[in-house]
Amino acid sequence: MNILTFDIEEWCRYKRHEKHVEFDHCLDIILDKLDERQMKATFFCLGKMGNSFPEVVRKIQARGHEVGCHSNIHTWLNKMTEAECREDTHCAVDSLEQCIGEKVKSYRAPAFSIGESNKWAFEILAENGIERDASIFPAARDFGGFPKFGEKKPCIIDYNGIRLKEFPVCTTEVMGKEIAYSGGGYFRFFPLSFVKTKMKKSQYAMCYFHIGDLVSDSYGVMSKKAYEAYFKETGTLKARYTRYLKSNLGKKNAFGKMMNLMNSTDFVGLPEADSAIDWMNVPTVNINLSLGRNA
Ligand SMILES: [Zn+2]
Repeated sequence: MNILTFDIEEWCRYKRHEKHVEFDHCLDIILDKLDERQMKATFFCLGKMGNSFPEVVRKIQARGHEVGCHSNIHTWLNKMTEAECREDTHCAVDSLEQCIGEKVKSYRAPAFSIGESNKWAFEILAENGIERDASIFPAARDFGGFPKFGEKKPCIIDYNGIRLKEFPVCTTEVMGKEIAYSGGGYFRFFPLSFVKTKMKKSQYAMCYFHIGDLVSDSYGVMSKKAYEAYFKETGTLKARYTRYLKSNLGKKNAFGKMMNLMNSTDFVGLPEADSAIDWMNVPTVNINLSLGRNA
């Protein structure tokens, strides 16, 4: 089972309209590819996207994909007090539900920021009607991670009697170290053939992408005038963006790599994965006091 997820936040990071057009364009390419391959994905959106860019969130929903929650303004959960996290989660879920007119059931913390120190976050997610979480990074990383979590496949989290379906990041062993490979900087770092081979060998893979991770910031889209002078053809927006993406792929190949993966791999979103899993037969991870597993 390969799960495809995107974290949708970039529109809120930049004020410039041109950047919004660029992100819209990337999202359209992704949505078109998903249609072409008849696949669904989960898009974890900031609550603020629901307020400031509702058309983006509604477009994702209208194309048949799941809208999940990615916090309100991308403050890491381990940088918030419990009260602040409660407020942030409530605002985010409320904003997205107002925007799409249906219940939000899936959640991913910004930067996978749920770990040992803030396990109470699961209580807050459950209070807000979240049923599926994808915030666990079950290995050490620069900031946080939850190496003691122990499970690298879908499992049930049991915390003070609260039960949540968990879809952790998948990891692999490289030179004796557990590391991720199927999203973010790890995906950019590893050759695509390595990622594909790992995914083929594994029964579960969780891919995660931010649009901002996939397109280069350093090379802007050419102006109409510059484009026409250089390529000697009409500089439509589509043509200029296509050139932009293509030319950046050679230098910073991440978007093309992801499209290649989407072309050659069958993916599902979290709702489809949820339905396909026999939850009675997955491990339960008890994270109340001491971390332990019940098979
Ligand atoms: Zn994010």
